[in-house]
Amino acid sequence: MDQTTAALERAHELTLDWLATLDTRPVPPQESIERVVGALGDALPEEGTDPAEVVDLLARACEPALVASPSGRFFGFVIGGTHPAALAADWLVSAWDQNAGLRQLTPAHSAVEDVASAWLLQLLGLPSGSAVGFVTGGTMANFTCLAAGRDAVLRGAGWDVATQGLHGGPRVRVLAGEERHDTVDLALRYLGLGEPEPVAADGQGRIEVPALAAALRSGSGEPTVVVLQAGNVHSGAFDNFEDAVRVAHEHGAWVHVDGAFGLWAAASPMHAHSLYGVDGADSWATDAHKTLNVPYDCGLAVVRDPAALKASMGMRGDYLIHDDAGEPFDKVPEISRRARAIPVWAVLRSLGSSGVRELVERLARHATAFAEGLAAIPGVEVLNNVVFTQVCASFGSDERTEEVVRRMLADGTAWTTGSRWRGRSVLRISVSNWATTERDVERTLDAVRRVVAGLEGQDAPTRAV
Ligand SMILES: *Cc1c(COP(=O)(O)O)cnc(C)c1O
Repeated sequence: MDQTTAALERAHELTLDWLATLDTRPVPPQESIERVVGALGDALPEEGTDPAEVVDLLARACEPALVASPSGRFFGFVIGGTHPAALAADWLVSAWDQNAGLRQLTPAHSAVEDVASAWLLQLLGLPSGSAVGFVTGGTMANFTCLAAGRDAVLRGAGWDVATQGLHGGPRVRVLAGEERHDTVDLALRYLGLGEPEPVAADGQGRIEVPALAAALRSGSGEPTVVVLQAGNVHSGAFDNFEDAVRVAHEHGAWVHVDGAFGLWAAASPMHAHSLYGVDGADSWATDAHKTLNVPYDCGLAVVRDPAALKASMGMRGDYLIHDDAGEPFDKVPEISRRARAIPVWAVLRSLGSSGVRELVERLARHATAFAEGLAAIPGVEVLNNVVFTQVCASFGSDERTEEVVRRMLADGTAWTTGSRWRGRSVLRISVSNWATTERDVERTLDAVRRVVAGLEGQDAPTRAV
């Protein structure tokens, strides 16, 4: 067997072993970073090692410290799993090793990107002529869209960022709800725009439209960007797009929507009403590696006006072969990049629109089951209106809630995270994984009940999976 075949066959076996353990292994890692560092070896070896043996060494060193985040019982942060079609397609992406930046260099990937983009716009209910950039995730999707927005509003004020830079130009006002995701601030920092002006949010974290309107009225016509949100990480809540977009456009603002996971509500008639009016915005950021369950890393930057995106991200090089249809790299910050549209196309083709609808509805149904199960436990209060995939619960005092978060991790059945929301400590549950079943929800609720019962006694619960 040649080296390539041997290494890939070993990786194939190890992959199947890993996937087979997901349902039974504890979700949290069983080893520390230090132990893995020790197992990987501290000195760079002088001599080489056979690739198949390297694959073995790597798996043996890493396996005990892997987090079962692709399991059906990982509810931390907002982390999707990996759909089988997407995982298999992603293996081909590595094997094919296409540089997805240029159309003529990678006709196959460009075709996949074109088809996947059209399907995505249809599923997400966004204007069909919009440009779709395949970036690494929600953060870069926010960055890419906000770059297009910043440059467009400055162009409207007679200032060309591409040639003049930002220095000495008009100040750009950015308004965003006070419960925006932190990566909005990060993206604005990359863009030289500083912190946004926070706009008050209501009890579910939705931007207050009258406060937004008042803030816009207080301006004097300067270039303005408004950032809205589809899917609050704590409550899952959606801004009132119809009114917020209208009032922002009345003041000439560019409207961007951070919909990292919430934009997928559009795929279900049961949930699409939460997004009413979202298609009136100018740009939208979402993730494919969360709700759509493709492997890391994949996010989508969607901009209504393709020329605005190209003005910010486009590039020319004399040695590059430019295609009249425009280049994939004109829609993203980087030139060379992975053929990320391939797993997206694969999962869409495998699920079909009915499968995506069912996936979204299932995630939300599990969240509702969590909320009902939690609320039935004495002393537990669900703090948000569960409108989508997110649940936040308090177990009484902050100390008691924090203890539950700690003991849930020690229990190992599932991974739930702690957070602070509206001044209180919470246990957060985010249902984002295609693989989660009703049984996973029940097993996780059993673990919560066990942990709560253990608080009444005194012993920390023993690990039970
Ligand atoms: C996850 C998330 C982001 C950031 O996305 P990454 O893919 O982690 O870069 C931004 N906004 C919201 C609402 C999110 O949930």
